[in-house]
Amino acid sequence: MKKERLFTPGPTMVPEDVLLEMAQPMQHHRTAWYRQMHEELHGLLQYLFQTKATCLTFTGSGSAAAEAAIVGCCPPGHKALVVVNGKFAERWEKVCATWSIDHTALPIDWGHGAKVADIQKAMDADPKIDTVIVVHSETSTTALSDVEGIAKLTRDRGAILIVDGITAVGAIPVKMDDWGVDAYITGSQKALMLPPGLAFVAVSDRAWERIESGKMPTLYNDLKAYKKSLGTWDAPYTPAVTLVRGTLHVLRGVKERTLEGIWKETSLLAKATRAAAEAMGMKVYATDVVDSVTALLVPEGVDEGALRKTIRAKHGFQIAGGQGDLKGKIVRLSHMGYVDAFDTIGAIAALELTLAEQGYDKIGLGVAAAQRVFAEDLK
Ligand SMILES: *Cc1c(COP(=O)(O)O)cnc(C)c1O
Repeated sequence: MKKERLFTPGPTMVPEDVLLEMAQPMQHHRTAWYRQMHEELHGLLQYLFQTKATCLTFTGSGSAAAEAAIVGCCPPGHKALVVVNGKFAERWEKVCATWSIDHTALPIDWGHGAKVADIQKAMDADPKIDTVIVVHSETSTTALSDVEGIAKLTRDRGAILIVDGITAVGAIPVKMDDWGVDAYITGSQKALMLPPGLAFVAVSDRAWERIESGKMPTLYNDLKAYKKSLGTWDAPYTPAVTLVRGTLHVLRGVKERTLEGIWKETSLLAKATRAAAEAMGMKVYATDVVDSVTALLVPEGVDEGALRKTIRAKHGFQIAGGQGDLKGKIVRLSHMGYVDAFDTIGAIAALELTLAEQGYDKIGLGVAAAQRVFAEDLK
């Protein structure tokens, strides 16, 4: 007997009750049933993003909503600053390039998050910049950006702030209205513990002014079309009814557990994993660490590809490797969604067993350190 456990930072494990909820017979979406569900979903999304803003549900992975937000907020006459500190940030720069959006990339070292001082400097140097795009939790490098500080700056300067919150929302503190973010994006397959296929974006009134006055040629992923349909709790095209149903179920649970409770739990899993790594003599990769996912540098002499293959084949744990320049150098473990202390201890134990097979024997050290963290929390 071997259990499959998904520790990749998206997709993540889906709880059994959510799978059952989505196994119900199909219903049509141009119905009072769907509209009622959509209305409740909207209220719960507002709770999730901590906002009174409009929350749109797109069919597609997270990138669909991110592209819609970037394209909608950057019509001709505006200029974007894209902070590039990892693979996902690179994608948003590519969106700008694809749509011929006037933009500048601000490269910062991988493993670091976007910081106020860097953005302020870039904005001072180029007064045309009136839009800033940052990744809150850069999943490829596991780096955390200072969204609260950056939002204060963009508010002060009347700029629009677009945040990729795809592994932040529902995992670590996100306070859209308190901070003053204009477009916050997430997807279904990360902290929301759903299958891939839905993208969510919360859009501020300030951003709507920009979007509605701009003329960007877009059809399917059009924020304006989604907003219009929201007026009657409809969707412009056939929505992914099954996933919407699952999301409603998940978000009811999130509200019951409270966001604060979930942020604390996620943070504890990350802390335990970092303590385990330290005890095993493994380095945490990121400088500005985020709590939704942890990247560990693979010890010298260990083959990362073989490590991931073995840990899955022998122990059932799917963990992620590195992307781009980090390929072969790091492994990443998710702390999002349907994962608890014992799943995490199990992942650490499996990592120890797999590393020992390659001659890096730290059996028991990581597990003990992680348990200490959980024990401290129980005090
Ligand atoms: C997963 C992820 C994305 C990409 O989302 P898709 O759902 O694959 O389109 C973008 N940004 C971050 C930070 C992510 O973690």
